[in-house]
Amino acid sequence: MASFISAVAKRLEGKVALITGGASGIGACTARVFAHHGAKVVVADIQKQLGHSVCESIGPSNSIFVHCDVTNESQIQHAVDKAVATYGNLDIMFNNAAIMDKMKPRIIDNEKSDFERILSVNVTGVFLGIKHAARIMVPARRGCIISTASVSSTIGKIATHAYTASKHAVVGLTKNAAVELGQFGIRVNCISPFAVATPMSTSFIGIKHEEVEKMTNSIANLKGVTLKAEDVANAALYLASDEARYISGHNLLIDGGYTIFNPSFT
Ligand code: NAD
Repeated sequence: MASFISAVAKRLEGKVALITGGASGIGACTARVFAHHGAKVVVADIQKQLGHSVCESIGPSNSIFVHCDVTNESQIQHAVDKAVATYGNLDIMFNNAAIMDKMKPRIIDNEKSDFERILSVNVTGVFLGIKHAARIMVPARRGCIISTASVSSTIGKIATHAYTASKHAVVGLTKNAAVELGQFGIRVNCISPFAVATPMSTSFIGIKHEEVEKMTNSIANLKGVTLKAEDVANAALYLASDEARYISGHNLLIDGGYTIFNPSFT
């Protein structure tokens, strides 16, 4: 019985994690949480200055920044290879980078090029992340891949057409990859947060951090709790840790019951 009770304070000791979109919001918070739990962290992002400051806050011996646009295959390949060259392996791939553009609510008013730009970051970026993580993890016969979807992976209406489509696609990619890579001991999951106050949500809605939290609280199912980036990072930590060793192909909703509370959105 005792062996099932985790006594590991540092739940990612000895592991190497690559986090796309690691310079800001949920990705930056997850980089700090993973490093706190003993992981070496590669912060991959298009925002160089912010990415470097995340690494400085973690400490230079435990993290590096790599400039990486997730839509560019050679840059993803380079980021993965840099993780292996610097720290000797890649245990955890966190495909977290995404964009939420101001597309118009009516489908008829939207341009194909805007739709494709969002899918290229939010879906192609995840596809490339899984592909290049698998390139390292399959021969190693172990690894864990996590991608950030959203409550918009299971419900419609609350985000734009492109964003909703992109997050549903992240779940599809997760399921296929989990089935294919399970034979190599690789787990593939995704996480789906409700609205969190980050630069993405504040700039999309055009309101301040505290106002995003107030708005989220007013429509949330679970009252008296405010969803923070740390809650999302802790969900990723659980999936990345050995405590989740039998969990694969799962979409973990971090929504306080929002999606079951709002059946009209399904
Ligand atoms: P954020 O804007 O704070 O962070 C996103 C990061 O992705 C930024 O650092 C940005 O530079 C990076 N990025 C954007 N395009 C990139 C590209 N082409 N290549 C590499 N990096 C790129 O946003 P966030 O809220 O922390 O979002 C993180 C994830 O959480 C996203 O997948 C988002 O869809 C998801 N999410 C966010 C919320 C929310 O309310 N904030 C809710 C559900 C899901």
